[in-house]
Amino acid sequence: MKLFSAFRLLLGGQFGEIIAGSKRFAAGDFSYRIPVGSSGELKKLSETLNFMAEQVALKMREAELRRLELEAAFRDMPEAIVVTDGSGVITRINPRARQLMGVKGFEAEGMWLSGMPGGPELSSAAIKALASGKPVQLEFEPAAAPGTVLSVTASPIVENGAVRGCVLVARDITGPRKLENLRKDFVANVSHELKTPLTAIKGCAETLLGGALTDKEHGPEFARSIYDQSVRLETLVADLLNISQAESGKARLERAPVNLKALAGEAAGALAAVLAKNKVSFLNLVPDGFAVSADRDKLHQVLLNLMENAAKYNREGGSVRVRAVPERGAARIFVEDDGPGIAAGHLPHIFERFYRVDKARSRELGGTGLGLSIVKHLVELHGGSVGVDSAEGRGSAFWFTLPS
Ligand code: ADP
Repeated sequence: MKLFSAFRLLLGGQFGEIIAGSKRFAAGDFSYRIPVGSSGELKKLSETLNFMAEQVALKMREAELRRLELEAAFRDMPEAIVVTDGSGVITRINPRARQLMGVKGFEAEGMWLSGMPGGPELSSAAIKALASGKPVQLEFEPAAAPGTVLSVTASPIVENGAVRGCVLVARDITGPRKLENLRKDFVANVSHELKTPLTAIKGCAETLLGGALTDKEHGPEFARSIYDQSVRLETLVADLLNISQAESGKARLERAPVNLKALAGEAAGALAAVLAKNKVSFLNLVPDGFAVSADRDKLHQVLLNLMENAAKYNREGGSVRVRAVPERGAARIFVEDDGPGIAAGHLPHIFERFYRVDKARSRELGGTGLGLSIVKHLVELHGGSVGVDSAEGRGSAFWFTLPS
């Protein structure tokens, strides 16, 4: 009898532990462990329940981790994300979307997407997606961020065949769009530049074939014109190759100490014919022994381009002056002229590809409109910067810096 009641006591105690433990599990406390009895079926049951609690805790931790990962992605991703319910009310919005839509100082969750500052376009995409159950794609410029181009995809959330909401993902495609436009402009510009000399060559050749070949007086003029235009084409192709090389990112710098005075003198030698033709003198004002750290060939090209411009856009009897001054860990080099100068309105564009102040004059002087953009690229490749001080009627001082 004594033995039986002791057994019941033992059994009842273990049962009580199991019931208490199950209640804690049901309340979500999976860290609790039921004390395991010494033996028998109840021991097995306690162990099984403890194992189950451990597994549930593990799965919950994993799920929490996934949730945190998704939360971090939602919060920090560069794309703007807005989630709406089936009626177009915002249920979630990430910081990038708040920024792009101009949502400031209030909670957007619970509000109509259409009522947001930058919402109308997004809202119309969401409405279409909600109504059709199909993804909708559009591009637009949000009023809250002028100049920005957004590409938006609105995807319906479908559950058991019913549309429950919509996820809008907006990507900022301003950069790629700009690049695409630049590329289009570039192709258009190149085609135009090539077309002009080609048309002239074709015209002259046709005239020669049409009988001018035997015309002793005018024939040579057409031949001369064909030659001039082919030189022009050659210069253009050379400049295009230079610019594509400079822009390819593959251009390698072979930096070494360069004697600037000697190099400027060399460039002036190569430009002797241009200087003479324009009746312009050259003054090498670089201090003796002034050394810069640069890729010799590329620096030679920079000087050639700037000095050739200074010779071409000059006045009879004027001069081309090259000067250099040391400047906090760098050198600043100036190429100055006594030419017509450049009006303030043109200055911000002067280093752009194909930009010319006076198109006709530039062409007449054999210019391609690419020289200064090549200069800019080559100087930036050295880690330096370029600029110009000029005013109409006052001459120009182009400068660039070369960090040592
Ligand atoms: P281009 O082949 O036409 O000379 P650049 O890129 O070298 O092309 O120069 C762009 C334009 O900048 C020129 O067409 C000219 O209008 C202007 N420019 C360049 N250098 C000078 C200068 N030293 N003085 C006045 N205008 C200049």
